[in-house]
Amino acid sequence: MPVNAIKPAVSVLGLGMMGSALAAAFLKAGHPVTVWNRSPARTGPLVAQGALPAATPADAAAASPLVVVCLLTNDNVQELLATLSDDLAGRTLVNVTNGTPAQARELAAWAAKHGAKYIDGGIMAVPQMIAGPHAYVFYSGPQQTFDAHRETLSALGGTKYVGTDPGLAALYDLALLTGMYGMVLGVMQAYALVRTEDIPATEFSELLVPWITAMLGGAPRWAEAIDSGRHLTDVSSLAVNHAAFPNFLAAFHDQGVRSDLFEPFQAILDRAMAEGYEADGLSRIADLLRQ
Ligand code: NDP
Repeated sequence: MPVNAIKPAVSVLGLGMMGSALAAAFLKAGHPVTVWNRSPARTGPLVAQGALPAATPADAAAASPLVVVCLLTNDNVQELLATLSDDLAGRTLVNVTNGTPAQARELAAWAAKHGAKYIDGGIMAVPQMIAGPHAYVFYSGPQQTFDAHRETLSALGGTKYVGTDPGLAALYDLALLTGMYGMVLGVMQAYALVRTEDIPATEFSELLVPWITAMLGGAPRWAEAIDSGRHLTDVSSLAVNHAAFPNFLAAFHDQGVRSDLFEPFQAILDRAMAEGYEADGLSRIADLLRQ
């Protein structure tokens, strides 16, 4: 019996950079793969690797019990699903398009209404990493549904199932990316600041990288403080940070660097003082950020 015959079939809708990598990974793992993309030209390379092209999204949905959707935005997914109505009945839809927890819950409700099962996914990898040792995907939705497809989905990389609430995969995904964007913005602001004195960013990065790495070592302690609600610190109090922070905004201004990114932090520190959290550590900020 050919290897393909014993592996479950998968349909992949959306063959951008990521969708193409996903389809190629399923093919490489020996799954029969049906592909569809709005611009049909993009199916070519996958068909050359053994995928079957579907003429319409409905044909793609009909071809496999597992239907993976990877489009640019949630709006694109909504638009696509609107054309499918009951074509997904009896199928499992795995949507790995970037979106919000609320959007995932809305899609899960749509799927339930149309007789389909829904798993939401958050991909923690770039296309080149898919199926490699460092790629993983968050999944959320009904445990049984996920378990039924876990092995197939493991063709993409690690599988991290985070719960039955379909919104959780997007929450974990966005939370990790939030940490990343915060780091990126801080790094860019630091580079912008040193470049005002013609210090090469490459030279400064030799100081910056170990500094940020060392500071990140505090993250587990902040996490413990946040979980326990005990924010008192003898390391770096909010009062000390509040006293120093105007110097950052003044230096940005004096050196000709925009301060938009950091002004909100001054407002948070002011609020911390007004609400009596002077002696607390930086971990208190996570509480202050909640509405
Ligand atoms: P691309 O821009 O390469 O591909 C976008 C895909 O969406 C294409 O297949 C495109 O079709 C399709 N599309 C766009 N608009 C519509 C529409 N109105 N109807 C139907 N199809 C549409 O993006 P990626 O593949 O890189 O990203 C896809 C998703 O994966 C995104 O949500 C992204 O955030 C997520 N992701 C991407 C990562 C990455 O590193 N690239 C990492 C982790 C997640 P067409 O070819 O016809 O334009």
